[in-house]
Amino acid sequence: MYRCQLCNVVQPPRTRAVKVTTESRPTEYPSRPKANRLRVGRKWKQFDDPGGAGFEIAKEATACPTCARAHEEKRAADEAAGLYDDDDLTTEAAAL
Ligand SMILES: [Zn+2]
Repeated sequence: MYRCQLCNVVQPPRTRAVKVTTESRPTEYPSRPKANRLRVGRKWKQFDDPGGAGFEIAKEATACPTCARAHEEKRAADEAAGLYDDDDLTTEAAAL
């Protein structure tokens, strides 16, 4: 039993809760030298982690399956309409 954070209705017992991302933000991860250890033959070797850029979850909501499906469809429609242009965000993050 839980309250859906999107429709604010208490769900009956044994209903699956779905975590839905409501907000995300661009982020950068710094490179980490000698972060990974890997065995090559008999010897352990250290490898660098290159780091990089991506997106992380800023806000998450617990939703009922119906709301989660509706949210996912809306997000897919927005993405098709070009609301999330990843290239713009990464260049924006680089400018900051
Ligand atoms: Zn709901």
